[in-house]
Amino acid sequence: MRAWATTGNGDLRLVEHPVPPPGPGELLVRVSVCGVCRTDLHVRDGDLARHRPAVVPGHEVVGTVAAVADDVTRFAEGDRVGVAWLRETCGACRWCRRGRENLCPASRYTGWDEDGGYAEYTLVPAAFAYGLPADLPDEQAAPLLCAGIIGYRALRRAELPAGGRLGIYGFGASAHITAQVALAQGAELHVLTRDPAARELALALGAASAGGAYDAPPTLLDAAIVFAPVGDLVPPALAALDRGGTLAVAGIHLSDVPVLDYQRHLFYERTLTTVTSNTRADGEELLQLAPALGVRATVTPYPFDRADAALDDLADDRVHGAAVLHIGDLRP
Ligand SMILES: [Zn+2]
Ligand SMILES: [Zn+2]
Repeated sequence: MRAWATTGNGDLRLVEHPVPPPGPGELLVRVSVCGVCRTDLHVRDGDLARHRPAVVPGHEVVGTVAAVADDVTRFAEGDRVGVAWLRETCGACRWCRRGRENLCPASRYTGWDEDGGYAEYTLVPAAFAYGLPADLPDEQAAPLLCAGIIGYRALRRAELPAGGRLGIYGFGASAHITAQVALAQGAELHVLTRDPAARELALALGAASAGGAYDAPPTLLDAAIVFAPVGDLVPPALAALDRGGTLAVAGIHLSDVPVLDYQRHLFYERTLTTVTSNTRADGEELLQLAPALGVRATVTPYPFDRADAALDDLADDRVHGAAVLHIGDLRP
């Protein structure tokens, strides 16, 4: 099969791999589409420590089960499944036992610890694969599997009160999905982003305002989420919070956060928190909720053999909404 692997020099290259047989507890998935996530850039560029040499990135994988290990009962050949970032936890540590498996110190990740979905086939532990609603097209399901799920967890971590005022900083794949969930649930949305096209998209989706990345929103916020991987956004986002507000930083990687001023940024019980991966429960919830709320990702499709170009476009802010690779198109 063909696959894209990291070179260790900030590039990807096309390689030929044997189709891997499923090990105990695993599914072999014939990939149809794979979303392109900013984390793939961090893996390619080495912003995230190298966990596996020449790893195949991709953790928003939609495909069909092509084979199952003998001990798998949860899925069968022919089932349509999703493969996401979180691919293994220990199940025994105190975080796993408390319903916070996203914090498991022994957790492992698709497209970082193990090969992911920039390939014709990929493996996944059956316990971490998602069944997909039948009415959710492949191209719409893919961006939900990371951008959607992480954004959904960020929204929950931001503790937005019902009908509250939400600020979103940066408006890429994750943000534009999260915005739709929040709006459908009655939020008043303010989007702050440097990209004029993203501001237009935000307003078209129903945002009450859209301003520049470092602008103050027209009203104080009950909750905010920083999606852009830019630590410089943390002080203005905190300053925009009303008393008791929460700022959740959604990125796995963030540039340095400048010195904070206690009075301007934190006092009045403002909370600064982060988002680390997700639990399977987050994923199951979002995959049911998104189609029910009418969430529609704006998708920029790429053919499989342009995965490197898709990542370059993402790095240079040339992607509108969510980029997805079409792998199924390779086949007759
Ligand atoms: Zn654990
Ligand atoms: Zn991701």
